[in-house]
Amino acid sequence: MPKLSEVTAALDRIYPRHWAEEWDRVGLVCGRDDIEVRRVLCVVDVVPETVAEAIATSADLIVAHHPLLLRGVSSLDPAEYKGDLVHTLIERRIGLYVAHTNADVANPGVSDALADRLGLVDLRPLRPLTGPEHEGSGRGIGRVGRLPAPLSLADLVDRAVKALPPTVWGLRAAGEPDRRVSVVAVSGGAGDGYLNDAAAAGAGAYLTADLRHHPASEHTARSGPALIDAAHWATERPWLDTVAGHLSELVDDVSVSDIDTDPWTIHQNTGGNRA
Ligand SMILES: [Zn+2]
Repeated sequence: MPKLSEVTAALDRIYPRHWAEEWDRVGLVCGRDDIEVRRVLCVVDVVPETVAEAIATSADLIVAHHPLLLRGVSSLDPAEYKGDLVHTLIERRIGLYVAHTNADVANPGVSDALADRLGLVDLRPLRPLTGPEHEGSGRGIGRVGRLPAPLSLADLVDRAVKALPPTVWGLRAAGEPDRRVSVVAVSGGAGDGYLNDAAAAGAGAYLTADLRHHPASEHTARSGPALIDAAHWATERPWLDTVAGHLSELVDDVSVSDIDTDPWTIHQNTGGNRA
């Protein structure tokens, strides 16, 4: 049975910490080196529900996508939300490891898993990493690929509905439903910073999450790609299978959380479709 230090060393090799954005906080959050890792749970978010799942499944390690502690903290008071989670993890001897923007840019990374679910082929990064270390590596943020056969935007949305895990948020799209799409850009997580990259890549549609009113409106008014706005969690959940695949070479029992950790609990469409 591998020790925690062996598992985290393997994860560090797959997702080197220096690939992460400067503002990001990745790697080991808590857990002693000598914890024996029999069971791992892969999650997008460390929240009370996924920590409860880790306890219920006797996980020794949680591998998470989003950092639990992104900004500086001066206290882990268990009366506070995050302090309580950290206390619970340490008391239960559950390690926590985070691979965030370093997993986004990896090849295969978070957006490869998303693109694969949609059946995209000939993938390349939406915004490639530059520098000698990354030359020809296929690493970078987002992916652009081709549908094996063109689809209408409406059919592409249908395909995405079936391909992504179910959420309260669901999917919404901006664009003509009949628009023919053959090149698709995707970016797991909040992707409105890459709207221009998706347009420059010649994408007919761009699937991401957390799209906001003004950037989305301005972008569609400039006849950019159609936009498909999915639940943040749903765009990153597919990558959990990738990391679980890596970990299963080292650990016997690796599972993936299917708890929808998006904050939305009710969603009603009050206006029908406007196209
Ligand atoms: Zn995210």
